Amino acid sequence: MPAVDVIVIGGGVAGVSVAYHLARRGARVVVAERAAVGAGETASCVGGFRAQQPHDLEVRLSLESMAAFERFADEVGMELDLRRPGYLLLAVGPAGAARLRAEAAMQRRAGAPVELLEAGEVGARWPAVSHRDVALAAYCPLDGYADPYTVCAGYAAAARRLGAEIREGVEVRAVWTVGGRAEGVITSSGERLGAGAVILAAGVWSRGLAQGVGLDLPALPYPRHCFMAYKAGLPPFPVVLETEADLMIRPEAGGALFIKGRPERPSFEALTDWGFLMDAAPLAAARVPALRNAGFRPGMSGLRCLTPDKRAILGPAPGVEGLFLATGFSGHGFMHAPATGRLVAEMVLDGATSTPGVEELGAERFGLAAGEDRRPGRGSRGQARTGEGGRALDEGQGRQGHVR
Ligand SMILES: Cc1cc2nc3c(=O)[nH]c(=O)nc-3n(C[C@H](O)[C@H](O)[C@H](O)COP(=O)(O)OP(=O)(O)OC[C@H]3O[C@@H](n4cnc5c(N)ncnc54)[C@H](O)[C@@H]3O)c2cc1C
Repeated sequence: MPAVDVIVIGGGVAGVSVAYHLARRGARVVVAERAAVGAGETASCVGGFRAQQPHDLEVRLSLESMAAFERFADEVGMELDLRRPGYLLLAVGPAGAARLRAEAAMQRRAGAPVELLEAGEVGARWPAVSHRDVALAAYCPLDGYADPYTVCAGYAAAARRLGAEIREGVEVRAVWTVGGRAEGVITSSGERLGAGAVILAAGVWSRGLAQGVGLDLPALPYPRHCFMAYKAGLPPFPVVLETEADLMIRPEAGGALFIKGRPERPSFEALTDWGFLMDAAPLAAARVPALRNAGFRPGMSGLRCLTPDKRAILGPAPGVEGLFLATGFSGHGFMHAPATGRLVAEMVLDGATSTPGVEELGAERFGLAAGEDRRPGRGSRGQARTGEGGRALDEGQGRQGHVR
């Protein structure tokens, strides 16, 4: 019998939530975190949460997670400062307006109190927001933001109190498989840690570990640029999300924080781009004119782990019994962390979740199925390429991660 029930690879907000939810159900858990809790993507996260999501499942996961944030101090034992100015989604073209309308109807059916607003209503409610070009807006007062590090540290502390061991400075080199089953992990010091189940929650670094067991997850690192505008005495406004332009602006003490998306290539470099600030700042000031004379600076740029459909990869790893994937959160990893923890605990301990539709997030949707070996350099059933990625790890088969 393995020494622990579950090993979680990665101590980001997803991994520690999983550890907490498993430990509170009595599982013996070890988290292997190569740096420190919250040091990965979570460190750059700006902590937004919103029920305004494009899929019914994610609306429900947001609502569940918001409820968990509300009771965070009572349940987890750490005060969480929830800011709820609401998210105001703006569409400036007819296609965006049609999408907002359809999504709002779906979100309301799922239980989110989303209002649709004409341009004039936006201007009347939030004079700080420029509204003349707005075709349609959607507003949900439940939406807001909170500090991701508090959530991460809170779950980690609560998991420890429940008996989980969180080992910082422990890097996992590979998932240890025998006969196509995950038996634990192998650390960079060569130590083998056995477990009944392994959770891969290593954020943008998950893909490399998954390739070791024959799964080429389409979960890639993309830089995301975040900026600050400093100006005292701004009039109140909600979190503004201009959907077509991928521009988010929210009020902060002493000014505003804003994020501007742009086409990016996958990269592990998330360097602050001062040049991009020159492009993004006028757009933020056009939407919130009070920012015109603000002082602008780069903020916490970082990496997001994006999948092709911008939905998480959550569920059993195809063809590797005992390995579960919790990665590819695509900009929602913080806001869905409480629900993620509960879902993974159910998958591991009950064999299924109590939430309908979670299979939509399974890796199978990308064509990764049991019996397929999708490592780069192989055909669907071809030869393993040589080199580091082809090192034999599956001891039951004498080669690495053959997926049956
Ligand atoms: C600028 C920016 C803004 C964002 N804003 C939001 C937002 O408003 N709302 C929202 O919900 N999300 C947002 N996100 C996304 C959010 O930050 C992520 O979805 C979330 O933090 C992912 O958490 P995670 O635990 O999956 O990954 P991570 O936090 O990256 O955790 C993975 C951990 O695994 C560890 N690790 C990696 N490899 C190994 C290994 N081999 N062995 C052991 N440990 C390993 C890493 O050190 C890391 O600590 C934003 C992201 C960025 C960059």
